Amino acid sequence: MKPKYLYYPRTGKLHIEGYCGYAKNCDCFSFATEAEARAFAHGSVSMCKKCQNKRDKLLSEVK
Ligand SMILES: [Zn+2]
Repeated sequence: MKPKYLYYPRTGKLHIEGYCGYAKNCDCFSFATEAEARAFAHGSVSMCKKCQNKRDKLLSEVK
């Protein structure tokens, strides 16, 4: 299952669905890829630290 990227315009943060407490049932935009979310926000996006760490960990486990 592919995670969804959730962009919060209010905070300018990008989260990944289910990866942290903020990434659910939100007033936000969802995207299939990080690139799409960044394009939508014109690059002014910072990734949530918690979500990023979790993603990095999952990616390193896949290898
Ligand atoms: Zn997050």
